[in-house]
Amino acid sequence: MFHAAIYRTYVLLYHCSGVVSLDLYQKLEVLAGAARYDAACTSSGVNRKAVPGGIGSASSFGVCHSFSADGRCISLLKVLMTNCCAYDCAYCVNRRSNDIRRATFEPRELAELTVAFYRRNYIEGLFLSSAVLKSPDFTAERMIETLRLLRDEYRFNGYIHAKAIPGADSALIGRLGLLADRISVNIELPSSDSLRLLAPDKTKESILKPMGFIRERIEQDAGETVPRGNRQRFAPAGQSTQMIIGATGEDDLKILNLTEGLYKNYKLKRVFFSAYIPAAENPLLPAMDTKPPLLREHRLYQADWLLRFYGFSAGELLDESCPNFNPFLDPKCNWALRHPEFFPVEVNLAPYNALLRVPGIGVRGARRIIAARKTGSLDFAGLKKLGVALKRARYFITCSGKRPDGLDIAPDALLCALLSEQARGRMEMAEIFAPQQISFFEHPAVAREELQKCLTGEL
Ligand code: SF4
Repeated sequence: MFHAAIYRTYVLLYHCSGVVSLDLYQKLEVLAGAARYDAACTSSGVNRKAVPGGIGSASSFGVCHSFSADGRCISLLKVLMTNCCAYDCAYCVNRRSNDIRRATFEPRELAELTVAFYRRNYIEGLFLSSAVLKSPDFTAERMIETLRLLRDEYRFNGYIHAKAIPGADSALIGRLGLLADRISVNIELPSSDSLRLLAPDKTKESILKPMGFIRERIEQDAGETVPRGNRQRFAPAGQSTQMIIGATGEDDLKILNLTEGLYKNYKLKRVFFSAYIPAAENPLLPAMDTKPPLLREHRLYQADWLLRFYGFSAGELLDESCPNFNPFLDPKCNWALRHPEFFPVEVNLAPYNALLRVPGIGVRGARRIIAARKTGSLDFAGLKKLGVALKRARYFITCSGKRPDGLDIAPDALLCALLSEQARGRMEMAEIFAPQQISFFEHPAVAREELQKCLTGEL
C-alpha cells in the first residue's frame, strides 16, 4: 500500500512538475485527445451578435457547431486545461494512477490558441473541461483566468461551454458562469454506489451542490428586471451534464429515472450519455475488449427526446418488469407495442399529445396534421405529403375510421414489420457510430503543417 502510494505521488509529481516539457503542439495533442471522452457538447442554445471591436458570435441554431459523421460536435475547440489529475476515478484515462503523457495549458496559452484557431476558421467556440489540478478551486481559478483573458483581453464573443469542477467553491462557479455561455457539471455515474466504488474522491453531494447553485443563479438572472448585456448573464445557454453508460450495472430504467429527475430538479438543458470506452483493467469495470455500448447510448438519447418533447415520462417507457430498452426497437415503437389499447389513433380527431405518441409522427408532423385538418379531413396520401412516416404510422392510425387496405395488424405481423425496418436502421447505424471521435488533428480543414504554423504564429 505504502509503496503504491509513493509511486502514485511520484508519477503525479513527475508529470506535473515540468520535468516533461511539451511544446504547444504536443500539449494540444495530449489535451484535445483527452477531452474526446467528454460527450457534453452540442448546439449552443444562445444568440449573440458580433460586437464592434470584438471577435466571434454565437447562435442558438447550431450555426456555431457542426457534427462529425458519428454525431459528435467538432466545431468547438474541445480541450482540457490539464490532464494532470489529483483524483483517481477508475473509469478515466486521466486518473492519477494511470501512466500516461501529461500536459497542462497556461491560461494565456489556451486563450491565444483559441483566438488563433478562431481566426483561422478552424473553430467557432471553445469547450473547456479539465482534470483536477491540485484541487478543484485551483483548477477553477485557472479556467476562470483563461475565460477572462478571452472575454476581456481578446474580446472573444464566441460560444464557450465550461465544465464546473465538482467540489469547487460556489463563488468560483459563479465567476465561471458569468464568462461562459453554458456550464456543466458531470454527474458521471448513474448511482451514488457506483460513484463511491469507482470515483472515491467524488461524492454525490459535490456534484449536485454546484448543479443546484447553477440552477439558482440562472433563475435569479431570469427574474431580474434590469436589462443586462448578454455577456454578463450567468450561463445564458443553461447547464447540462454527462452520464457514463455501461461502465456500471445500472439498468436503463434507473438511468432514465435519474435523467428525468435531473431535468425536473435542476432544470438542465441536456443530459448527455456517453458509452463507456474501456480505459482500465479493473475487476469492477467491463473488460478492455468490451465494445462501447453505442446502440444503448442511442436508445437512451431517443428516450431522452421522448421525455423532453413528446410528453412521455420515464415510468411509461420502462418499468420493473421491463427495465431495459429493446435494442431492436426504438423506445416509441417499443411503448406502442406494449400499449395496443391506445391505438388506433384517429388522425382527424386526436389531440396533439395523442398524435405525438404514434410511431412515425414527430413534433413537426403532429403540428402539420393539426393545422391541415382545419381545412378538410386527411387521408393517407395527405399524411404522406405532411411528412408522416407512413411505413410505421399506418399500423397505428385510422383516417376517417379507415386503415390502409390489406394491412396485417396482427401482433406478430406488426412486430415483424417494425423489426425488419429497425434492423435495417440498426445496420446503418453500426456503420455510422464507429467507436471513435474525430480528432482535431484529423479535421479535414486542419492540415498538420498549417496547424504547426498557426501555433508558432507564422499564420
Ligand atoms: S476527476 Fe475527472 S479527469 Fe480526474 S480522474 Fe476523475 S473523471 Fe478523470
